[in-house]
Amino acid sequence: MTGASRDLQNKIKELSKNNYRAITIIEKCKSCGTCIIYCPLKIRTFNIDGKAITINTKNSCGGCSVCFHRCPQHAIKLVLVPKKNYPD
Ligand code: SF4
Ligand code: SF4
Repeated sequence: MTGASRDLQNKIKELSKNNYRAITIIEKCKSCGTCIIYCPLKIRTFNIDGKAITINTKNSCGGCSVCFHRCPQHAIKLVLVPKKNYPD
C-alpha cells in the first residue's frame, strides 16, 4: 500500500486552504425549513424575513451539500471561500 500520490497530496493541500459556504439565493427560498432540519452541523436558520440562511460563523460550513441537494427550490449554492477571506 502506498501513500497518496503527489497530485492527490497537492489537491488536498489546495482544498485545505478553503472553506465552504452554503449561500441562499434569497428570492428562491420558500421558507420550507428543509435545509434547517437536515443540516448536520445545525448552521442553517431563518433570518428575520423568514428566509433560510447559513449562520455567520468563522468555522467552515461543512460543504457536505445536503442542503444543496435537499432544497426543493434549488435555492442554495455552495461556494469555496479562501480561509483568509472568511467572514468574522
Ligand atoms: S453544506 Fe452541509 S454543513 Fe453546509 S450548510 Fe449545507 S447542510 Fe449544512
Ligand atoms: S430548503 Fe430551500 S426553500 Fe426550503 S428553507 Fe431551505 S433554502 Fe429555503
